[in-house]
Amino acid sequence: MKFTVLGAGAMGYRYGVLLQEAGNQVDFVDTWEKNVEKVREQGGVLVARDHQDQHLVPVNVYYPEEYQGHPDVWVVFTKQMQLADFLKRTAHCFDEKQYVLTCMNGMGHVEKLLEYFKPAKLIAGTALVATVLNGPGDVDFIGARGAGTMNLANYTEKPDEMTHKVVTELEKAQFNPNLTTNFMGTLLAKVVFNSVVNTLCTLFEITMGEFASYPGADELSKQLINEAYDVCERAGIQMLNTRQAELESVNYVSTVANPLHYPSMYQDMSHNRPTEVDYINGYLVELGRKYRYEATTHAFLTHLVHLAEHTRQAP
Ligand code: NAD
Repeated sequence: MKFTVLGAGAMGYRYGVLLQEAGNQVDFVDTWEKNVEKVREQGGVLVARDHQDQHLVPVNVYYPEEYQGHPDVWVVFTKQMQLADFLKRTAHCFDEKQYVLTCMNGMGHVEKLLEYFKPAKLIAGTALVATVLNGPGDVDFIGARGAGTMNLANYTEKPDEMTHKVVTELEKAQFNPNLTTNFMGTLLAKVVFNSVVNTLCTLFEITMGEFASYPGADELSKQLINEAYDVCERAGIQMLNTRQAELESVNYVSTVANPLHYPSMYQDMSHNRPTEVDYINGYLVELGRKYRYEATTHAFLTHLVHLAEHTRQAP
């Protein structure tokens, strides 16, 4: 199968390199000049696993304007605030037969993708795996081969033949995909998870394990999970997990799966890049307001993250 990764960052490289190694034809499209030039200069991307065994993987990378490929599936891994620009600049390569797969965090991408792709071609989900971009053309896959899982669903909630083919390729590449037929519930489970762990770890500049070791962590998590679920229930979203199961997932990932990991929102903050908080906690606030519910704790946290961004960027 032919895949093109839109957004050659941490996750774009992880998905693209592993799909390529599983026997697929993969191209990468990216807009960050230092990254594209570095990959071209060194003849590929440097890949390590848990800081070990760094090696060069040859990849083809293009700027959007020069790209002429027509993949079967676009794999989209930009940050939420970059997506509209990427889509506009790559639109000349989109056609009606192509599928689009994304496991970006937050909410906001679905509407943007539907401006270019038919609902029946959109597959979205969540990736429960950690990856770090050390710099241009240099990525670190956290966890052993086969680590992590992903959930995905068709926007139409009706898996077709192509969806099953994509799932087979993801299985071969050891992403451990779990196909559901609950689109919003699948995406929102990760939004709720991130609204707790990503946001609090970023504000306090701590790893997930450090967060989990605080004796009051459960109480903090519960308040945010309860408020998020109150929003989702008012919006009529059928959640994948119960509130208790969501809390258990926060605890499992923080203590067992990724205790040493700083979430991707922290990585953005530490590089003085804008975070995705408006698409995570901020999304829950906006959704609540549509149903006349004030998610006050999520609104407060959104402000705190913006205050931290503002403080770091101040001269
Ligand atoms: P990333 O920041 O590594 O890459 C996204 C884009 O930003 C790429 O186009 C990359 O070239 C560009 N970029 C990276 N650093 C830059 C810099 N310093 N200056 C300019 N451009 C730069 O993003 P990611 O971590 O791959 O995340 C993509 C999506 O996947 C996001 O929605 C994220 O929340 C989600 N996600 C990330 C992880 C993770 O562990 N990294 C896990 C699950 C989901």
